[in-house]
Amino acid sequence: MSARIRIALSKGRILDETLPLLQAAGIELLEQTAGSRKLIFPTSHPQVDIIIIRATDVPTFVEHGAADIGVAGKDVLMEHGARGVYEPLDLNISRCKLMVAAVQGAPEPAGRLRVATKFVNLTRQYYAEKGEQVEVIKLYGSMELAPLVGLADKIVDIVDTGNTLRANGLEPTELIATISSRLIVNKAAMKMKHALIQGLIDQLAVAVENNRQPQNPD
Ligand code: AMP
Repeated sequence: MSARIRIALSKGRILDETLPLLQAAGIELLEQTAGSRKLIFPTSHPQVDIIIIRATDVPTFVEHGAADIGVAGKDVLMEHGARGVYEPLDLNISRCKLMVAAVQGAPEPAGRLRVATKFVNLTRQYYAEKGEQVEVIKLYGSMELAPLVGLADKIVDIVDTGNTLRANGLEPTELIATISSRLIVNKAAMKMKHALIQGLIDQLAVAVENNRQPQNPD
């Protein structure tokens, strides 16, 4: 019996920017995902299916082997921990920055810093490494609001153009990490389905390189 692999992607920027890379590796969706309620999609490759799940669930599916391969932002991987997966390839897509931001020109607060974020684990780790005691406040969205209404002194969030921060009178104060999406692979699948998965990694690496040259001469 020939091996099958399941690739986990998330809707939005990751799906939009991963599909052309997969296409270059000979894997195309056979039906539209937009507007569909389906979660498992066949592809033009007889051994490959794609599942579409929440971005933050991708490392969980891959770690447990429910998907052999996934694409997840480095922010999501840092927050999840993702110790149980291989991360063989930087796809160089969905690039952004993970930053600390505060109200423009605001002085440092006197007491313990309050930081609102959806990335509680990586925020705790960031401040622990700096040796700073902070109170981390978990939010699920609209982080920019927190410093404006006195819920927090700072936020830790994803910044792309910086327009969202500016529109709310905030400014980035520290860069935590530059972010891009990574290919992740289940460790057992990497051994058991090595030829198929390594072949795909090699083809994707070529597609990433071809993508890089025209846009990003650095
Ligand atoms: P911007 O206004 O361009 O700085 O975009 C900031 C907002 O867009 C943030 O609140 C993020 O939630 C979202 N965002 C931008 N880029 C990404 C990305 N690569 N991955 C996830 N979210 C992003």
